[in-house]
Amino acid sequence: MYMGMGTADDIPLSVLFPQSSAAGLESLRRAARGVGGTQAGAFAKGWDWWPAYSVFAGPQSETWVILILCAVQPSGDGDWLEFQLQVGWTELGQHEVSASVNVACMCEADHGTHDVGVLTFVVGDEISLPQAFEACAERMTVQLTDSRDADFWRAREDLPTRRM
Ligand SMILES: [Zn+2]
Repeated sequence: MYMGMGTADDIPLSVLFPQSSAAGLESLRRAARGVGGTQAGAFAKGWDWWPAYSVFAGPQSETWVILILCAVQPSGDGDWLEFQLQVGWTELGQHEVSASVNVACMCEADHGTHDVGVLTFVVGDEISLPQAFEACAERMTVQLTDSRDADFWRAREDLPTRRM
């Protein structure tokens, strides 16, 4: 399946979000460009998108992601974390926007990864897509500033940390 990748300026927003107004698309572009603030250059090309998912086609077994920004950050010996901002669909066909930090699991039982510091919005009457996207873009920018140390995020969620 075709997908695209590139910078915030490359994202075909009108294709991915055909129902958005021109003003809405402009807000999305501005928020996308602003993620990470002055540090944005490090992961400028980290955007991926799937035009085939721009139109909701009923509930799926897997999560549908329309647009995602993923910044992978090394964090010490073989450790790493990911900062993510994504737009997808809920099972009911509403846009869902979220920002999260993904850290490798250090529990005795292996959970793979843990999503921490999650902020999620379901777009609807309460919040528009541009508003939700802007809020999550801001959250990711703050999270990038908070810490690039995976153990900081594990400790914040009371998860076992790597260095005992
Ligand atoms: Zn775990």
